Amino acid sequence: MKGDIRKALDYLNENKVRATYTAVQSYLGFGVMEKLDWEEILGPRRQYTSWVVSKKSSMPIGYAETDLHPDLLVNEKVITKGRQLQTALKGYTKSAEVESPNDKNGQDEEAKVEVADCHGNNCAVMCPKCGKAYLVSSFLNKGVRSCPHCGGSKAVFKEVKEEWEATHQDAIVAPEQEATRLIFKREWLGYDVWVTFTEGDVTYRYPHDQLLQTFISRLGIIAGTKSWETDGMYHFPRLSGEQKILLQRYVVDDQTKSGVKVEMVNELPSNANTERE
Ligand SMILES: [Zn+2]
Repeated sequence: MKGDIRKALDYLNENKVRATYTAVQSYLGFGVMEKLDWEEILGPRRQYTSWVVSKKSSMPIGYAETDLHPDLLVNEKVITKGRQLQTALKGYTKSAEVESPNDKNGQDEEAKVEVADCHGNNCAVMCPKCGKAYLVSSFLNKGVRSCPHCGGSKAVFKEVKEEWEATHQDAIVAPEQEATRLIFKREWLGYDVWVTFTEGDVTYRYPHDQLLQTFISRLGIIAGTKSWETDGMYHFPRLSGEQKILLQRYVVDDQTKSGVKVEMVNELPSNANTERE
């Protein structure tokens, strides 16, 4: 009968009732004589875990005043037996499923984080409980992360990002951009931006970051130029033959398709090597 500590803590918090270390130990399936590392089982000392108390004092051991749940003493009853806790939790399973969404929304268990910075799929937040910063990412842990320092706060990427964008209009980068020519902008980096532009009869749509990498590695340009380093952008008034080759896979529309020119365009890749000599 191995118990679930998370469920037990949820129950104690929701019902505002304390349980002794011994009761929890027994509920979790450990022997009475076993010496447990409570920090490992409960995580950092915080209000949420303060319901687990010493049998002697009916208070948690080693907790600072601020780590005690404000309602800790509203109920005189203390669960002292593992079996008692187990019975209580049996009936709790059902309501936990129904009520868990409410739990997540509130209580003082998990305080609201402060957004410090967002870039692309990552946001940095400040933990209101311990004051330390941590990162939350849209593609890790379903975009939800608890404070790795104290466990006292939780950041939800979607909410954090929304909040950031509400106060930083300029931080919003649309995934589709229109341009009059081939251009790279520092402010688009990391946003998975696609850019569409037309030169002559040909319309291109290219993945900004990926093509920038290709241009830097293949053509050895952009990085280090004043335009890029100072102004944060680099553009091409007219495409060279070599650049057209690199862009060819991103052609989305070619008005010359019916004409003679199309043959030239198609031939470019195979000519690439000889052209340079
Ligand atoms: Zn924290």
